[in-house]
Amino acid sequence: MSDESVRQLLVILGDQLNPDSAVFDDADPTRDVVWMAEVAGEATHVWTHQTRIALFLSAMRHFAAERRAAGWRVDYRELPEDAEGDRITGLDQALAEAIERLRPERLVWVPPGEYRLVQSLTSTAEAAGVTVEDRPDRHYLVDTEAFARWAGRRKSLRLEHFYREQRRRLGILMDGDEPLGGQFNFDADNRGRFDARGPGWLPAPRGFEPDRITREVIAVVEKRFPDHPGGAHRALARFDWPVTPGQAAEALADFIEQRATGFGAYQDAMWTDQPWLYHSRLSTALNLKLIDPRTVIEAAEEAYHDGRMPLAAAEGFIRQILGWREFVRGLYWWTMPDYAQGNALEATDALPGFYWTGRMDDGEAIPMTCLDQTIDQTLSLGYAHHIQRLMVTGLFAQLLGVRPQAVHEWYLAVYADAVEWVELPNVIGMSQYADGGVMGSKPYVASGRYIQRMSNYCSQCRFDPGQTTGETACPFTTLYWDFLFRHRERFAKHPRTALQWKHLERIEPAREREIRVAADRLRQRLGQGATD
Ligand code: FAD
Ligand code: SF4
Repeated sequence: MSDESVRQLLVILGDQLNPDSAVFDDADPTRDVVWMAEVAGEATHVWTHQTRIALFLSAMRHFAAERRAAGWRVDYRELPEDAEGDRITGLDQALAEAIERLRPERLVWVPPGEYRLVQSLTSTAEAAGVTVEDRPDRHYLVDTEAFARWAGRRKSLRLEHFYREQRRRLGILMDGDEPLGGQFNFDADNRGRFDARGPGWLPAPRGFEPDRITREVIAVVEKRFPDHPGGAHRALARFDWPVTPGQAAEALADFIEQRATGFGAYQDAMWTDQPWLYHSRLSTALNLKLIDPRTVIEAAEEAYHDGRMPLAAAEGFIRQILGWREFVRGLYWWTMPDYAQGNALEATDALPGFYWTGRMDDGEAIPMTCLDQTIDQTLSLGYAHHIQRLMVTGLFAQLLGVRPQAVHEWYLAVYADAVEWVELPNVIGMSQYADGGVMGSKPYVASGRYIQRMSNYCSQCRFDPGQTTGETACPFTTLYWDFLFRHRERFAKHPRTALQWKHLERIEPAREREIRVAADRLRQRLGQGATD
């Protein structure tokens, strides 16, 4: 890149890969430069899964190539293969170096999607004496100010209220003022499970063979981050995520054609060795902005009108994107930075090491089948679907009493689709109840019976979800009752939780002691007790 005078430096981060971004609105390819950088710090600030690193780098390099082909000057810093000579580790350092070298009149950006980066990159620009011009983020359907106004008017924030308002405002699945089918929410139809025959044959989701750019990136990741999660599971050999807008569009079309019909009924179901089931695998493409959420919502709405998707499936799917995805983003920006520190239930234990390795301390497989399946799949693919994240790995951490920030670090590190604005509220709020009820009205806690109902995991496990104590007691069930005892004060009189806690009234003090001793022994066996 020559150092001829640069008017605007157009800052593009790894999760801002939409070519229709507002930074290009009045930009001029002859006077402005697109700036992008790969730095090791983004892969190490949490111990990031190899698949996630490769996904970001590959999609960024494809974006840069497309912009160059469209006539833009792109100042792109590639991650050196060799760690020895890599002086720049943080994005802030890379930006400072580019400002020094290119001396732009100003920076133009859509503000970063992560609080940490807004802080550090704004400080970098200030220190360099360069102004930063904010542009609107057009990817989302609800802007952060509108969410703050909505949230500020309410005593409690509930997804359902937010979602209904957005359906009405945008006229999605509506017939005038009324929701199609007479109700906004078909959640009750979204809890199907498979019978003993399982899901049967399902077409594999559309995957994408790594091209030259992706293969180059994979080689760099293997060299620079060999011991990161995914390494021992040969995750990079299975890499097939969409890395361009064209591939994202193909993935959407494939989902609508092949699997969308079952999304509604089976969105909460789990089955051994079936990581994808009826899920869309679109979160990575959405979060990198390779595809617009409106395109995804329109495709589902159209499929419903064409008779290719039942209403309960289309509504359930749209609720995830128009509802949950927009809701958690608004919540993140409304509550940060305090939200990240939440620990309402005062949980202090360490996250068991098997979350990171898929192995017990003695090198044996995880004996709990549900955890073994979910964690093995996570480490092999960088993916688990929502109920696996919420009701297997998330639930177990919550029942154990793991410090929420350690849980947050794991989720941010191991999923290919992890970006903090969506991951953090899902972990701190929905999964760990660490926000004390800002996001959900009660903790998502259940015994092993829930997992038994929604999957076939228990039929292949050495434990019995119906047993609370004894040799074959299911650890989820033991810890569930222990959780109810430990948090009795807080929840037994709460109107939303009193019913669940009422079960404790039937339990004799001696039986309570027995269960609590069993839970303590279990924690000791798992090496718990120390805060990491
Ligand atoms: P599908 O099941 O096909 O759903 C369609 C789309 O809806 C998803 O692609 C996603 O964009 C959106 N969506 C679904 N559920 C949620 C939700 N709860 N919040 C926001 N959007 C949602 N999602 C991420 O994108 N990144 C994360 O880091 C992330 N971390 C999570 C951590 C925990 C503890 C939990 C419980 C959920 C998390 N989710 C996260 C939400 C959800 O699990 C994933 O979006 C989903 O599993 C991605 O797979 P999919 O694309 O096949 O989704
Ligand atoms: Fe998981 Fe318990 Fe079922 Fe085993 S019995 S798979 S540990 S819920």
